[in-house]
Amino acid sequence: MPAFDEDDVIRPAPTTTWTCDCGQPMARYRGEGDQACPDCGQWFNAGGQRLRSDWAENPSNYDEDISDLEGYEMVASGHEDL
Ligand SMILES: [Zn+2]
Repeated sequence: MPAFDEDDVIRPAPTTTWTCDCGQPMARYRGEGDQACPDCGQWFNAGGQRLRSDWAENPSNYDEDISDLEGYEMVASGHEDL
C-alpha cells in the first residue's frame, strides 16, 4: 500500500457544502476563503455563511489581526447613534 499524503488527493472532498439562495450548489475546499456564487454573485464566507451587504466595510478584510466577527462588530457599532 503506497502512503498517500493529503496533498496527493486529486479531488479532495469539500470541507463545507451549501446551497445558495438562487439554488446554485456551493462548495468550499480546504485552504479557500470567501467566495461568491458564480450564478448570482452573492458572497459567502469560508463557512458558507452569507455575507452582509456591508461586508466590504469590515476591517477584517484588510487587517489580519481582526476576525470577521470583530470587524463586523466594529462596523455595526460605528453605525449606531448612541
Ligand atoms: Zn447564487
